[in-house]
Amino acid sequence: MADDPYRSQRERLVERLQREGRCAHDRTAAAMRAVPRHEFVPEDQRSSAYDDRPLPIGQGQTISAPHMVAMMLDLLDLEVGERVLEIGTGCGYHAAVTAEVVGPEHVYSVEVVPELAREAQDRLRSLGYADVSVRVGDGSAGWAEQAPFDAVYLTCATESIPSTLIEQVRPGGRLLAPVGDRVQELVLVRVNADGSTSRERHGGVRFVPMRDGSGPRH
Ligand code: SAH
Repeated sequence: MADDPYRSQRERLVERLQREGRCAHDRTAAAMRAVPRHEFVPEDQRSSAYDDRPLPIGQGQTISAPHMVAMMLDLLDLEVGERVLEIGTGCGYHAAVTAEVVGPEHVYSVEVVPELAREAQDRLRSLGYADVSVRVGDGSAGWAEQAPFDAVYLTCATESIPSTLIEQVRPGGRLLAPVGDRVQELVLVRVNADGSTSRERHGGVRFVPMRDGSGPRH
């Protein structure tokens, strides 16, 4: 976007994240550079769109800080063409960044608040990410019709990871989630070829809680 007034701010943000080691992969940096975060936040928040902090997006929800989006992309180590499920569409920003890496038609996102889902879908459409699929529902059920996925990530915190989500990850795939109640940790679950799982912990985080769904936990 040649006439994007926020371009230099965005560039500075990405450079800072790279310096801080929070945006290690080139494809993560390219994706962060490509997506206009200011288009995803409410008008009165635009001037803060390239500060590295979470911002309110309405309905009591927040868009994650840019470094968190970048770190999550780095950890999932996504490749072009991989199929990704996001739980918690929010304003659609994180989905757009993921779409820059894997391709919009490979991104599926579930949002429990109908109004947020509708607004995110409209916004994604108008910004060139029309092929990202958004649906309203309880994310703890995943998206069975589109499974299996190469990767699943949650942008809301869960006290324990729903088994259904693990089951929708292909062998060799991975799932990334903030796990915990008030104190949360970012957990990367790798699903091994035999269906067993292994976990890596990636430090303390703070996400909005996942609204309660039913179903067994992993
Ligand atoms: N990725 C988003 C961040 C949104 S914040 C972005 O870039 O803006 C977390 C989102 O998770 C909120 O929109 C919230 O409504 C949603 N959420 C909470 N519980 C959920 C559930 N059970 N299923 C799906 N989405 C849920």
